[in-house]
Amino acid sequence: MSTPIPATLIPGDGIGPEIMDATLAVLDALGLSFDWDVQQAGAAGVKAAGDPLPQAALDSIRRTRLALKGPLETPSGGGYRSSNVRLREEFKLYANLRPARTIIPGKRYDNIDLVVVRENVEGLYMGYEHFIPIDGDPHAVGMSTGINTRQGCRRILEYAFDYAIATGRKKVTVVHKANIMKALTGIFLETARDLYLEKRYHGRVQMGEIIVDACAMKLVQDPWQFDVLVTTNLFGDILSDLVAGLVGGLGMAPGANIGADAAIFEAVHGSAPDIAGKGIANPIALLLAAAMMLDHLKLSEQATRLRKAIDDTLNVDQVRTGDLGGSANTKGFTQALVSRI
Ligand code: NAD
Repeated sequence: MSTPIPATLIPGDGIGPEIMDATLAVLDALGLSFDWDVQQAGAAGVKAAGDPLPQAALDSIRRTRLALKGPLETPSGGGYRSSNVRLREEFKLYANLRPARTIIPGKRYDNIDLVVVRENVEGLYMGYEHFIPIDGDPHAVGMSTGINTRQGCRRILEYAFDYAIATGRKKVTVVHKANIMKALTGIFLETARDLYLEKRYHGRVQMGEIIVDACAMKLVQDPWQFDVLVTTNLFGDILSDLVAGLVGGLGMAPGANIGADAAIFEAVHGSAPDIAGKGIANPIALLLAAAMMLDHLKLSEQATRLRKAIDDTLNVDQVRTGDLGGSANTKGFTQALVSRI
């Protein structure tokens, strides 16, 4: 047996522990051995250590440089800052990779296979926000400042082009709003054009450009024209949920956060408090995130086996959870999947 792979495991909140149990059972069935360091964060972190991102969790990821993470609850409006955003900052997880692939054919969109590469640490999500009080209204004006740097743009664009070439993809579309936000997203487009010429990407991969609003419309009308989309933080957040919607919703959408200091893999959906504890959550998004983690670890054969087993469980065995119109619960789906491995 090979040496267990050290990794941090954050079960997360709500349905997190349920889908994490499912994922661990499947990784086991694949014959993989991980040395999991289990840590709490989000609401579970507050409960366990009085902190939504306890120091022990940070130390663990700093040591292992690899984490599989369940969804973390974040209060809207007031309350603590998102632990997810803090993790991105802490480990400079500058690339958020969100693939969308049709797994269940015969729905509105067939044969979708595209990837959104989102800049994950700059732009309008840097948290430079404040209210200006006027006439006794403490929240009379809300302000947010976005920052994109040449270096940050270059890093994510390079990542997207290199990723496209390494995975045999044909085209990278740069999504921007440089017509209106001439500085904030103009720098992104300008850097893309320069980089494409400078690194001689032409001939190896095509580059396209599109304004974000047109991109949203075209993704709905004709998503097949796209391959890899690369964009700034806020646009990437929105478009990656849009593409998840094309292929069956958030229950099927995985995400990877890749950086200089660590890589964190997670489902895109949240803690689903409405169904938490009922044992009916769909574990596929986290399972697909685990498959991305295996790719990252260069365990491509196991990643392929996992993806194929998911496809077969859904389409050959027709075992599906309630959100996909089926009647299986989380455990039932997991058992069916394990027997396909
Ligand atoms: P959500 O994704 O948790 O739920 C939206 C809807 O989708 C709900 O009806 C839910 O039941 C359903 N759903 C989500 N995942 C599912 C699954 N695997 N199987 C079946 N149904 C599923 O979004 P929300 O309700 O807006 O957010 C709840 C909490 O999660 C919030 O505190 C939010 O901040 C947090 N959140 C965390 C992350 C993360 O950690 N990456 C991402 C998004 C939201």
